[in-house]
Amino acid sequence: MANFSDLLLDVARVRRDFPILDREVHGKPLVYLDNAATSQTPVQVIATFDDYYRRLNANIHRGLHTLADEATAAFEGTRETARAFINAAEAREIVFTRGTTEAINLVAQSWGRTNLGPGDEVLISLLEHHSNIVPWQLLAAERGFTLKVIPVDERGVLDLDAYRDLINERTKLVAVNHVSNALGTVNPVTDMARVAHDHGALILVDGAQAAPHQLIDVQAIGADFYAFSGHKVYGPTGVGVLYGRAELLEAMPPWQGGGEMIATVSFETPTTFAAIPHKFEAGTPAIAEVVALGRALSWVNEIGLTHIAAWEERLLEHATDTVSRIDGLRVLGTAPDKAGVLSFVVDGAHSQDIGLLIDQLGVAIRTGHHCAQPLLARFGVDATCRASFAAYNTPEEIDIFAESLERVVSMLR
Ligand code: PMP
Repeated sequence: MANFSDLLLDVARVRRDFPILDREVHGKPLVYLDNAATSQTPVQVIATFDDYYRRLNANIHRGLHTLADEATAAFEGTRETARAFINAAEAREIVFTRGTTEAINLVAQSWGRTNLGPGDEVLISLLEHHSNIVPWQLLAAERGFTLKVIPVDERGVLDLDAYRDLINERTKLVAVNHVSNALGTVNPVTDMARVAHDHGALILVDGAQAAPHQLIDVQAIGADFYAFSGHKVYGPTGVGVLYGRAELLEAMPPWQGGGEMIATVSFETPTTFAAIPHKFEAGTPAIAEVVALGRALSWVNEIGLTHIAAWEERLLEHATDTVSRIDGLRVLGTAPDKAGVLSFVVDGAHSQDIGLLIDQLGVAIRTGHHCAQPLLARFGVDATCRASFAAYNTPEEIDIFAESLERVVSMLR
């Protein structure tokens, strides 16, 4: 039995905040290990949502009445919370989006469309989620720049020598994830940012899988852009954050037009735009979601990201040890620095079948390509099983997962 008693996370207390963890699936207690897809939501965040619609609901920034003022203050309060969460220098460097995907598309459509053209290069990596591949492919087809890919070794670690070989004075942007959703690899983004800047390139970091699992400091990293999603950090769906350095955001044109993002609109003189960040927030945003995201980030701060990170690291170790006993099981992603993701395939058992059968035992894992088809192709597979961990998972749940997996695999062989 793994020993977690030295860790400073009171998991029983954490679990009390998540009513969904008490439900059953197919008559079995739920063991939720699909946190890299979406994490569960604590009661404090649910209550914030509820309270917003009971007491505050109004459109923001435009009203002169009390509810509009209070809703605006709550909405803008999250901007400050998000600023502190990633240690951005200023709250106006925080743009609310629908999620990581929209944040990356914003950078592609605004900064990319303005700054990239024939002869330019954008460097991404083989570890990327489709959301940090396809926006660049679409734009490359339109603007005529070249997309290059940093390879990974058999452990799922980025080949940094290849990175240094690929980067050159034509490289305008390096776009990489901080943590791989498919393998859990933690990338050395601070070093990569230094190399990018030495070559006059910018760096965009997709932090969707990092924000829930480790302290983020965008200034220490040297990130020019950093993106994350609310629903992976104990917050709601439909909301995310794009951090951009103020001088970059200021120089970028709007990407969507409409209300809220303008200063003046006229048919006689050119329309002028609002200051950042509002220039990038056209239309009525997901107000309740943004307010609830603020509560989610505070919840994470209350538990403490360093405690969460240590807890998840131990869960990962325990899970890796336990499932490795299963005959024919191969872990994909054996990087020395990994976040709480365990991706694996099993000889003689299809990942999809494993996922369906283990669900019958109450265990929720993800199976498929994890929106990282090029990466999986590198490992010669088109699907894996992925268990991913959060602050509320326990060593007992890992044991149930491993025993269930063993049962399922023996049924399939
Ligand atoms: N990047 C990574 C690394 C991810 O894991 C995900 C979500 N799986 C995304 C981007 C996309 O996030 P969203 O769907 O919330 O926009």
